[in-house]
This record gives sequence, structure tokens and C-alpha cells, in this order.
Amino acid sequence: MPIHQFTVGEMTCTVLSELESQIPYDENVTNFFITATFEEIRAAADEIGEGEFMTNAINILLIQSGGTNLLVDTGIGSPERSGLMGALAEAGIGADQIDIVFITHLHGDHYGGLIVNDEVMFPNARYVVNRAEWEYWLSDETLAGSGPRVDGVKTGVLPLAAKFSFVEPDGEIIPGVEVVRAYGHSPGHVGLYITSGDDSLLFMSDSVNRVIQLSRPTWHFAYDQDKEQAVQSRIAMLSRAADTGTLTMFYHLPFPGLGNVTRVGDAFRWQPINS
Ligand SMILES: [Zn+2]
Repeated sequence: MPIHQFTVGEMTCTVLSELESQIPYDENVTNFFITATFEEIRAAADEIGEGEFMTNAINILLIQSGGTNLLVDTGIGSPERSGLMGALAEAGIGADQIDIVFITHLHGDHYGGLIVNDEVMFPNARYVVNRAEWEYWLSDETLAGSGPRVDGVKTGVLPLAAKFSFVEPDGEIIPGVEVVRAYGHSPGHVGLYITSGDDSLLFMSDSVNRVIQLSRPTWHFAYDQDKEQAVQSRIAMLSRAADTGTLTMFYHLPFPGLGNVTRVGDAFRWQPINS
């Protein structure tokens, strides 16, 4: 899968594509945007020039800074180990050279690449997560429940519990990589603000999952756990991006998910970089 390399000051950043899928704009899209009608979704898509399909990508960020290789999320981790491992090889980095894996939130498409076919994929890494996210998913109360998300945590995260350490919003993972609170998509969902020299990058994680959400940020999105809190976080993150003019990156927007956010009335517009 493709990679895209760029710099943020002294840091070398690489977007590693795990996958990119096209979702048709048919009646099923109302399953994503549960407060909108099909006609409203179609009109919003036309407004931004999206035709038959919307994209769901997985863009994984590798930050190389001061001799540390920091991977931000791990994708789904397909059994064929194609996407991320192929992209890492393309970038010339071995999985055993990853020092830290930061997980933005404990949903399967972010931690799924930690263990694949019962094998730990980043054997020399330590793992870092926001404390509030850990305390929610690994609580006795949550683990006593069932369902795909809880079952995934039990098999994909719990076996690695001893290797996890914790940060909190406004804290740093490494110098220049700060954790940004963006709760709602999950109870402890966070983004990152990365700075070096005069450069910066706002990593939005899943504050937005589809391009169309920039023009309709108040629509409720099916995979957001607290939908109203997610709307507030989405607007806060997009406002910060637009008002500062910083380079931004989204985990699920078309590869490489990099570009700028601008304001249009009460909403926003995505301006991807040419890659
Ligand atoms: Zn996601």
C-alpha cells in the first residue's frame, strides 16, 4: 500500500496506508448518518462534488523524532498482514524497530494490528493510551459485558495489558507530540497536536470519519458512542484546524488524509493536499 512522507520541523512523518474502500451512496448510507435522510445526504454529497461513492480509508501515522519511532494506531490488522506491514516495508522500517505504539482509542480498527494471527506484531514496542479510554474499556463493568467491541478488547488488547502505559489530555507522548482531548467518538478518544520548529500538524483521529461530515458536523454518526459529545468535539477540532490554519490529518479520509480545513458558514470544507 502507498506511503506519503513529509516533515514537521525536525520530525519525519510518514502516512502508511492500510486500506481504502469505496462505499456506494445508496440508501444504506443513512445507517452512518442516523439523523439525516437519504435526500439530505445526497444533497450534501453533491455540494462537495462526491459522486457515487464515499471513501473510508485507514491512514496510519509514523513519527520519527530524536531517534524514536512512534506509530499512531495500527489499523485493523488483516490476517494477510498486507496493508500496514507492506507500507512499513516500503518506508524502510521493520516492525521490530517501532519503539512506541500510541493508540488513539480502543476501537478495533485502531488497535487491531497489535496482535495478528496470535502474533505480537511490534515485539519491541511499548504501548501508550489515554488513561480515561483504558479505564472505560478495561473496567470490570465493561469487560463483564459482551458485543463485538468488548470481545475485541478482550482478545486484542487485554493480553498486552502489562506493556501499556498512560497519558492524559495536554500531556506529551514524546517531546512535541501532545495529546488532545476529543471525547465522544469513544469515552477517551483523543487526537494529537504535533509541533517542531515553526511547523505543526493536528491529527484528528476519528473526530471525523467521512469527508461529508465537514459540511454537516452536527449530524450524528453511527459509530460515535456519545453522539452529542462527539458533535461538540468534532466542531472544536475542526474550528481549531480552520482558525489556526495548521496542517491536519484524518485517519479515515482518502489517502493520505492530509490537508487543510477552512470555514464555510457554520460548517467546514476539506482541502486535501495533492499527493
Ligand atoms: Zn476508526
